[in-house]
Amino acid sequence: MSYSAFCILYKGISCHSFILTAIINNANQYQISYKEVLIICAGFDNRISVDQMKVLIVFWRHFPVAVFSQNQDIKVFTHNIIFGGLSSGVGAVINKPGKENWKKSFVRGMWQGSIGGLLNYSAKKIICFIDKKNNLGYAVPARIISSAGNSIIQNAASNGPFLKNWSLEYGFLRFDFYANSEKKFRIRILPESVIATAIAIPNGRFDINTSLLTGVMAFKSKELINTNHGSHDGANYGRAFIYTNDILKYHLVSHEVIHEYQYREFLVFNSYLKKEVAKIKESGFKKMLTKYFYPDVPYFSFFYMLEGVESGPRYFRNYYEFEAERFATNKYVHLD
Ligand SMILES: [Zn+2]
Repeated sequence: MSYSAFCILYKGISCHSFILTAIINNANQYQISYKEVLIICAGFDNRISVDQMKVLIVFWRHFPVAVFSQNQDIKVFTHNIIFGGLSSGVGAVINKPGKENWKKSFVRGMWQGSIGGLLNYSAKKIICFIDKKNNLGYAVPARIISSAGNSIIQNAASNGPFLKNWSLEYGFLRFDFYANSEKKFRIRILPESVIATAIAIPNGRFDINTSLLTGVMAFKSKELINTNHGSHDGANYGRAFIYTNDILKYHLVSHEVIHEYQYREFLVFNSYLKKEVAKIKESGFKKMLTKYFYPDVPYFSFFYMLEGVESGPRYFRNYYEFEAERFATNKYVHLD
């Protein structure tokens, strides 16, 4: 704000001159906007000291951010719970046994899925410590909790017995554990993880340490990565990612790992196709496919594109970008 603008303001609202001088002197330091001066002067005309004024300005600038930041946490919390609950509820209806009332199936799927959603939220919340403490070790408990969350959601959507089926996806592999079945353990390959890695290989150097700790195939590049939406210092291929910046390493890795969590959450849709897959005629080919491969279909990419991708400050208007940034930093994400 310029000096002349302050003078106009002075005439307009008859603010005490010494407060106005203080504002002019501190305008650069505090980068006070016209709106802020107007509101503060109009509300507290002449009745406060310069020091009180400074406190007010600092409060004014930070209080809304603190409040909105809380709101953003409520937003991602609600999203995770609702996504887990709804996706499981719908799946439970699709896979409902025989003549069971669909409302009963839906409610059962919904409450179980909501618990899964809560675990997914908690896992993502742990991820923010990676950047906070500069320590990739936090990715380990986060992955175990998010695997538990997804297991509960996928199980609820399939109408499986509660807390009896568990899965863990790590790198190229998916491990399944069945408490109630004759076959207790199963390992399958995740084809999209292999494809994503093949795409990432020419663009970066394999980062074994980050991959082992996060469970996601991680690559490092010295140059910015060009995508359809401009140059970025991180790029995600669903099951693999590239980061470029050493200084921002922990921030970038956290952000990209959250995208992989989002990718895995959408695999609940596989449960919707359970009955259809069962209808396909048994053959050697089907047996081989289902025995060795788990279809980690990129449903997420479709929903990501549906959100729209904008560049510049509007980038985080895409919910999944917003969520990744929010959990990576645990700070207010500007959504201009
Ligand atoms: Zn992103």
